[in-house]
Amino acid sequence: MSELAIRGAKVVTPQGVREADVLIREGKIVRVGRVHRPGKVLSARGLVLLPGAIDAHVHLALPVAGTRSADDFESGTLAAAAGGVTTIVDFTVGRAEKSLPAAIEERLKEARKAAVDFSLHAEMIGWTPERRAELLQAAELGVRSFKFYMTYGDSGRRTSLPVLGAAMERIARLGGVAMIHAEAEELVDPGRGPYPEARPALAEEVAIAELAVLALRTGCLTYVAHISSMQGLSTFLAAKERGAPLMGETCPHYLILDESVYARPDGYLYSVTPPLRGPQDREALWTALFRRELQAVSTDHCPFTRAQKEPGKDDPTRLPSGLPGVETLLPLLYSEGVAKGRISLSDLAWYLAEGPARAFGLWPKKGGIQEGADADLVFLDPQARWEIHADALHMATDFSPYEGFPVVGKVTSVLSRGRWLVRDGELLAQPGWGEFVPWQGGKE
Ligand SMILES: [Zn+2]
Repeated sequence: MSELAIRGAKVVTPQGVREADVLIREGKIVRVGRVHRPGKVLSARGLVLLPGAIDAHVHLALPVAGTRSADDFESGTLAAAAGGVTTIVDFTVGRAEKSLPAAIEERLKEARKAAVDFSLHAEMIGWTPERRAELLQAAELGVRSFKFYMTYGDSGRRTSLPVLGAAMERIARLGGVAMIHAEAEELVDPGRGPYPEARPALAEEVAIAELAVLALRTGCLTYVAHISSMQGLSTFLAAKERGAPLMGETCPHYLILDESVYARPDGYLYSVTPPLRGPQDREALWTALFRRELQAVSTDHCPFTRAQKEPGKDDPTRLPSGLPGVETLLPLLYSEGVAKGRISLSDLAWYLAEGPARAFGLWPKKGGIQEGADADLVFLDPQARWEIHADALHMATDFSPYEGFPVVGKVTSVLSRGRWLVRDGELLAQPGWGEFVPWQGGKE
């Protein structure tokens, strides 16, 4: 399709909602407003038009605990497309003896099958200050987001505070961002599994407090991944108040589920790190979303099948941690958030599009409905009602943590750079369509 006019949709941006036409040419949005012109016209009356969702935290084909997360770049991105996610940000697979450029090239090869556009965070494993030249090399390859773990010392993934601080200083100069898994190593007990008693909110709170000081002192833009607890959140907000350059993320499972699921016979299927918390944590996170105090809602999509989780049923040290989510991100945040009055439609466009796009160098190519942006758009029918059932989803796992959930609002059509990934409910996405989106702009 070279040109398409979408007429009369409710166009949603973080600034507001208005009825407008959107003209698309050669995969780009060329006009938002009144469009009078012959040619292909598509009426979208009664539908909500959202910017294509960006899931900034996705782990496809991730090697974990002797297995791999169940989705590869093909199945995971087809599922993303079905759920209105038009861009994902995945991770390189870091190792002490592998340079960042090598890890990036390797991951770009694996991602060739992607059906949606993608970007990468560089996973920083076994990092040492001597490797600093690799940061610039990564930036030259279009990667300026660097992921560090403050925990997981047992599997060698942890970065110590002095090394982290030195890296953050360099990343600040590069105009990049440090993305952090914030749990204080000494306050977690990995031998007891990914459960709240082994990974308490206190661990999150202490790590965020330490991280905030490093961010404040280095000036490094710092993205706190998957904030799960009220304690972690309030420490995060207090540090921002003090001027620490922090951005925060939470995930649908912390907003919708709580730790009561662990008492179920199949509770081990809900293993995720950080673990699910209590109802008061959930409410605090919704309040922060309502106040626009966070940057993104992303999924930490890392699915495993029942069979993969089974060995951990009685032995928590053999339990892979992670939940499926990329396909249900937008529908759940709309249904549980917007339809229930906890957040507005405009908030949705912030958390699922502009917020993550701005955090990770995708803006203004991605994340907005404005002239010059890629024509990545989601049509949502706000009246439609359906139920979540794992067997009707496309993610490569055989359960959903939201099985049987009633959902209000349904993704009916999805465009990626002007091409249909979903049209009237039919999944048309093709592996190989997705392109790598290098970090837009940035200093040298
Ligand atoms: Zn993750």
